Amino acid sequence: MKKKIDFLLVGQGLAGSMLYWWLTQNGKNVLVVDRYHPFSSSRVAPGIIHPITGRRIVKTWMADTLIPFAEQTYRDIEKHFNETLFHKMNILELVHSVKEQNDWMMKSSSPEMKNYFSDENTNTLYNDVLQGEPKKISISQSGWLNIPGLIGFLRKEMESTESIWNEDFEHDSLAFHDDEVVYKNITASRIIFCEGYQAIHNPLWKHLPFLPAKGEVLTIRSEELSLDHILIKSMFILPCGNHLFKIGATYSWDELNETPTEKAKEHLLNLLHDVVDVSYEVVDHQAGVRPTVKNRRPFIGFHHEHKQAGIFNGLGTKGVLLAPYFANHFAEHLLGKTELMKEVNVARIN
Ligand SMILES: Cc1cc2nc3c(=O)[nH]c(=O)nc-3n(C[C@H](O)[C@H](O)[C@H](O)COP(=O)(O)OP(=O)(O)OC[C@H]3O[C@@H](n4cnc5c(N)ncnc54)[C@H](O)[C@@H]3O)c2cc1C
Repeated sequence: MKKKIDFLLVGQGLAGSMLYWWLTQNGKNVLVVDRYHPFSSSRVAPGIIHPITGRRIVKTWMADTLIPFAEQTYRDIEKHFNETLFHKMNILELVHSVKEQNDWMMKSSSPEMKNYFSDENTNTLYNDVLQGEPKKISISQSGWLNIPGLIGFLRKEMESTESIWNEDFEHDSLAFHDDEVVYKNITASRIIFCEGYQAIHNPLWKHLPFLPAKGEVLTIRSEELSLDHILIKSMFILPCGNHLFKIGATYSWDELNETPTEKAKEHLLNLLHDVVDVSYEVVDHQAGVRPTVKNRRPFIGFHHEHKQAGIFNGLGTKGVLLAPYFANHFAEHLLGKTELMKEVNVARIN
């Protein structure tokens, strides 16, 4: 029997989940096709929000808008499921050289950045476990999202409303008509692809300049470590509760697969030893591939030939920060309420 819906989404990582959230919040009828992948980028990512980017210590793009929007959205989703998913937590950047210290001090006093620095006294924090005597710069408006939790709850809800098909999307079964698409027994006004880095295999989007980056993350258990902050020094140590800590992450552009490697494990453990002196056991090791793109701006919008086909992708290393705002932005555009921002519009590539 034929079924008519508003939107067909392909992929239920963070991108597809957030777009589903905003479209259904607006009363739209949505079906998702997603092949469950235990090591998708969204399931492997520790989900950190960091308002400051890179060695040059600059404010993350659109941070003043994106951070409050993301936090509010995650709080609304928490309320919807009556579960805790977003953990606000300061980051401690561990700084050793005098030059680095000066750079950070200068940035922390600049008017546009100072809201992102906390004035908590860090002098005595964690001195019993830290290697050396680093200066500890405390960053606020940061934290981490339990992404597998969030997409897991949404998936259960989709299953209970028969709004998800757990399968591979079959391109041969898709047909474009004037104002709609037909996929198997489904007719939809639009199809939106949210496939993460797998979009490189999609015949409609092969031309986009994706630059996917594999990343690996360890989970350790340590009874000797107790943190109320995320520690960062060339890597992160993220406390997740129950004496568990995520350690990561590596970057590799050569081998795009979800296979953990001994090389990455050794690298991460060496970095860990540079930061803290504690005993631990490694309890998990995962790898995933980030949907990173060349100019680090998301791909949102429509195919140049098939206007009924859209894309929401390119969230790169900052999906937790970008997904809520830009899923809402795209949903509003799909509902005819707003123009797409030029900077994220995929038409910039075409
Ligand atoms: C190691 C690592 C660390 C990271 N750390 C952070 C971090 O700290 N903070 C942060 O914000 N971001 C981080 N990221 C990035 C973050 O994971 C991504 O930005 C975001 O999760 C991408 O979501 P997505 O939905 O676009 O892609 P994905 O999570 O890859 O989801 C795509 C989904 O589509 C499905 N799919 C694809 N093709 C098909 C098809 N043809 N048919 C059916 N289903 C299909 C896949 O199975 C998957 O479920 C990290 C990523 C990695 C790998």
